[in-house]
Amino acid sequence: MSARRDRVFIFGLVLLNVLLILFTFGFIWNTQSSINTIISQTNPTTINPPRISTHTPYYPPKTTLPASVTAFPVQQIPTATISPTALPENSEWIGTSLGGRPILIYRFGQGQNERLIVAGIHGGNEYNTVLLAEQLIQYLYSHPTDIPKDKTLYILPDLNPDGLERSWDIYGRANDHGVDLNHNFPYRWSQNWNHENCWHYLDLNGGQAPASEPETQALMGFILSHPIKALISYHSAAMGIFPGGNPPFPPSLSLARTIAQVSHYPYPPLDSGCDYTGNLTDWAATLGIASVDIELTNHRETDFEQNLSILHAFLHW
Ligand SMILES: [Zn+2]
Repeated sequence: MSARRDRVFIFGLVLLNVLLILFTFGFIWNTQSSINTIISQTNPTTINPPRISTHTPYYPPKTTLPASVTAFPVQQIPTATISPTALPENSEWIGTSLGGRPILIYRFGQGQNERLIVAGIHGGNEYNTVLLAEQLIQYLYSHPTDIPKDKTLYILPDLNPDGLERSWDIYGRANDHGVDLNHNFPYRWSQNWNHENCWHYLDLNGGQAPASEPETQALMGFILSHPIKALISYHSAAMGIFPGGNPPFPPSLSLARTIAQVSHYPYPPLDSGCDYTGNLTDWAATLGIASVDIELTNHRETDFEQNLSILHAFLHW
């Protein structure tokens, strides 16, 4: 009797273990497929959607870059200059990237209350923000009366043209110094940060010093010489609407709530635990500018209709 009871007991134990192992593998498989889904959303392999043909920003001749860039060579600034007459309508050349590419800003309206939209700070990794800015520029060329009389809207479509030219994936994120420009602004600046909870596909840094990069300097110079009251900085993907300021600046919170009402982007934004040192919107908030980061849904689409609603809400906020 006792031997039989032992066999039943051992058989029970074995069965329990088998069930536990099956359950554990099922859990790991499930978790892995969720992680893979997230990675495929944040790091798509599609890198060649067509550019918008109706509006082609002017680029100077491309400097030669290696086919596969893993380091970030310092580019020589070409000596050839660009004729100001070659610039697109409504645009102004506010600075030059390390690779010698112009940083252009577009102006719409003549009002005293000035607002700014910045895209492409993360270059080719977030190329859809540049495409969106180009779509908005094209829209405003044909709808100039959408700008209220008292407002001027500036759009800077491509703050990191070298990154955009380098590649439309993670290798296009930094500028030619390997600097993440959105960590290079002179507020809570740090050369390095804890990458664990932040974007960490490459080991990028915040520059040798606050505002060390010419792209950062170009945008800062523009903002400091204009009475900008509100700013949107476009990114991708999926985290939501981030009010600028640390702690968030109350006018940034108000602007973020207004934008949340006309869009489906998450607000409050998803909290990854990342400490966003030296970023544009926090620095802008120190100047009294209501500022928000908006993250597009993925790395491909521009969510144009949604961002047209945001544009109108932004102009009337
Ligand atoms: Zn970004």
